[in-house]
Amino acid sequence: MSDDPAIVDCLIVGGGPAGLTAALYLKRFRRSVLVVDGGESRAAWIPESHNIPFFSHGISGKEILAREREHAARYDVVAETGRVTDVRKSEGGFRATIESPNGAAREVAARRVVLATGAVDVEPDLPDVPDAVRRGLVRYCPICDGYEAIGKRVAVIARGDRGVGEAIFIRRTYSDDVTLLTLGEQLDLEPGQEEDLREKGVTIVPEPVVGLDHEGDAIGAMRTAQQELHFDILYSALGLRYRSELALALGARHDERKALWVDEHCQTSVKGLYAIGDVVIGLDQIVVGMGQAAFAATHIHNRCEYPTEDE
Ligand SMILES: Cc1cc2nc3c(=O)[nH]c(=O)nc-3n(C[C@H](O)[C@H](O)[C@H](O)COP(=O)(O)OP(=O)(O)OC[C@H]3O[C@@H](n4cnc5c(N)ncnc54)[C@H](O)[C@@H]3O)c2cc1C
Repeated sequence: MSDDPAIVDCLIVGGGPAGLTAALYLKRFRRSVLVVDGGESRAAWIPESHNIPFFSHGISGKEILAREREHAARYDVVAETGRVTDVRKSEGGFRATIESPNGAAREVAARRVVLATGAVDVEPDLPDVPDAVRRGLVRYCPICDGYEAIGKRVAVIARGDRGVGEAIFIRRTYSDDVTLLTLGEQLDLEPGQEEDLREKGVTIVPEPVVGLDHEGDAIGAMRTAQQELHFDILYSALGLRYRSELALALGARHDERKALWVDEHCQTSVKGLYAIGDVVIGLDQIVVGMGQAAFAATHIHNRCEYPTEDE
């Protein structure tokens, strides 16, 4: 426990599955923690997940978040609604600016910072997509829910070289009826890749989709100027935009997509700055983010002594 109330042991930016797990671990290590959350968890989009252990009958993303908040609240963790707009190095750790929803800004000092800021799915240019995602008509992650697509007619929205691997993954694992929709954009394929896709039984439709009908909780039809297409499941494979700006401003190492590099303790290349969950290079899954939270929190607790090893 920090004996200086003006400085928290750890500021956690983001209150999704990863950030809330880190808060839970740190509080159980009797550390002072501040969680600030912008309220835009990717998990909130999950209609029902079937790959979270312990929930054999499935659980929605909103329910996962509610249960995690309730669990953390038992240790007096309340995620403060707001945005961390800036994190800087300072003596003894970091200083950060928090902007509350009414626009007021304040400064906090933290010995360590965990970024659990997640990522945002790049949305396809389709009519009615926000509604279709909420209703489970458009999916983003065959690793999460491809199992529920077994034997179904599946379409994958692709752009550039994105989506090709996803279409092949679904074709080899779950369905022999897979179509790649390029929405009128150029596919950026290696020589021979298009033939390879066709040989593997993936159909390519290069025309833009001009209309989408839903029938109950299924896609009725997608219309291009030339044809009407029928699928049971539509995946969008356009990639993610990583919310890594705070770390990038501190010079943290990242890949070409701006996802963050971390070491085996989930520490970024900036000492004392940790990153967990979707914002990190790797597999964007809830259990992965939770595991990373456990690594980061334990390392923080073991190293964040008074004075700290680098003070
Ligand atoms: C449709 C869909 C279905 C999915 N299904 C599954 C599934 O079945 N199984 C599975 O394991 N995964 C699934 N996922 C992926 C899963 O949702 C993510 O892996 C998970 O939510 C990542 O957790 P996180 O805590 O890293 O980030 P998030 O859950 O995205 O939370 C990040 C939080 O940080 C906040 N934040 C960002 N920047 C700031 C800032 N500057 N200041 C304050 N707060 C900030 C955001 O507002 C947000 O609340 C699915 C995703 C989608 C979209």
